[in-house]
Amino acid sequence: MEYLEHVESNAMARPDVHAIVTSSGQCATFEWLWNASEAIASFIDRHDVPSGQPIIVYGHKDPRMLACFHGCLKSGHPYVPIDRYSVPDDRARNIASQVNAPFIFAIEEHPFDGCNVVCKQEVDDIIACGGASDRGQWVSGEDVAYIIFTSGSTGVPKGVQVTSDCFDNFCKWALDLGGVEKTGKVFLNQAPFSFDLSVYEVAMSLWVGGTLYCLAKETQEDMKAMMEALASSNTAIWVSTPSFADMCLVNKGFDESLVPSIELFLFCGETLTNETVKRLMERFPNAIVMNTYGPTESTVAVTEVIVSEAMANSPNPIPCGIARPGTRIAICDADGSELPVGEYGEIVIQGDTVALGYYGRPDLTERCFGSSVLNGVPVRTYRTGDEGRLDDEGFLHYRGRLDLQIKLNGFRIELGDIEENLRKLPGIASVAVVPAYRNGKIAHLVAHVVSSNERTESDFREGLKLKAELESVLPHYMIPRKFVFHDKLPMTGNGKIDRKLLAIL
Ligand code: AMP
Repeated sequence: MEYLEHVESNAMARPDVHAIVTSSGQCATFEWLWNASEAIASFIDRHDVPSGQPIIVYGHKDPRMLACFHGCLKSGHPYVPIDRYSVPDDRARNIASQVNAPFIFAIEEHPFDGCNVVCKQEVDDIIACGGASDRGQWVSGEDVAYIIFTSGSTGVPKGVQVTSDCFDNFCKWALDLGGVEKTGKVFLNQAPFSFDLSVYEVAMSLWVGGTLYCLAKETQEDMKAMMEALASSNTAIWVSTPSFADMCLVNKGFDESLVPSIELFLFCGETLTNETVKRLMERFPNAIVMNTYGPTESTVAVTEVIVSEAMANSPNPIPCGIARPGTRIAICDADGSELPVGEYGEIVIQGDTVALGYYGRPDLTERCFGSSVLNGVPVRTYRTGDEGRLDDEGFLHYRGRLDLQIKLNGFRIELGDIEENLRKLPGIASVAVVPAYRNGKIAHLVAHVVSSNERTESDFREGLKLKAELESVLPHYMIPRKFVFHDKLPMTGNGKIDRKLLAIL
């Protein structure tokens, strides 16, 4: 894996440079990261774990998490990152049972009773003991480097298997983004490590010997603390969802005088609105703003555009940009036939960053993944379920989803996942969850529910009860804000739930 070789040369050339700094006060040098991950790899090697077996790494923004990720890569095992705060206990246990990991590295308090857990203290002991990896075992080529679990439409999360080559290919492209020199710079980490957006800054910063500045949950929840953290972070490369930038922009003090070091705003994961760009351009006149697009299934992002003032001020939405070298975007109809330039259809990604498929789910993999040849080289393809078109210059324009997947504040959510979990609760006859929009953006979710029993409480109290029950099985961002009770759900002419009507009720 080329990436690991770069991390190694940084550990040799700049051992004392901080590879990781967290807003909660932790930091770790490149030398520490390298040695700690060597020790973790050697620990895994001693345990005779079957080759390619994924290993769960559970916790939050802690340098030990990164040490474990790299230890897994060096021992030839994909890591499965689970963020303590964005993945509820039941979901974390479901992932653990899907992966059937021989042991779990848990850097924080964890929900894995009965599993073989290596806790924080033991991780520290392993690191203190030292050890060396076997270079012949490092993940490479088509070996899976990491598995990120995303929302699945049937209520069960699905694990996207990203290979070592996908990771390297992605990194090489990402490092050139915006034409900004990135060596030794500070990269902002907003997203939890269980979301593929975080791979952007982790991979870039550690490849170029920069510093990953992690905003911990407690900091993100306190606007004053967050502004202070950003001010002291020396961030040069900002990576976040547009929603996170919107949240920061609410604070009038969030501008160039607060964080003068920002050179590049890199966005991915959801629609970047003209409004967000215009406000960023006003507050940070010297920074470049980029929109990039891509799903976890094609390793973070595959298109890029530097947003110009003309694009920001145009009445048209910001484009997602042109495909990276190594990727081809095709727009296809429902039968998979390619459509001409200008026509809207499903966005299909072909190329050298398309993942191997879903872990342990050949059925789902077959549905969305395929193979083809690009520039004479065999590559995988992925049908995104996104709707878009290409223009004459090869720019991709995103219009929305073709199915029930949505993005709320940057989080990818299958509405079917919420509905399935609601249906499992007692007293629910039928349910439909729809997004509620404000200013053209999804603001929150509304659950429309038909009860199977007579309700004894007010709708408000029944809603609170359902919310509380959902909280134990779904991440906080998937909990509908509002519950509306009906005698029956409205239907369309062809007998489907009329979601469009529900959305305007
Ligand atoms: P995730 O796998 O969590 O990264 O989510 C991938 C999905 O996010 C894509 O399939 C799109 O629906 C959406 N998405 C990603 N980037 C963009 C973008 N630049 N503009 C609009 N939607 C995006």
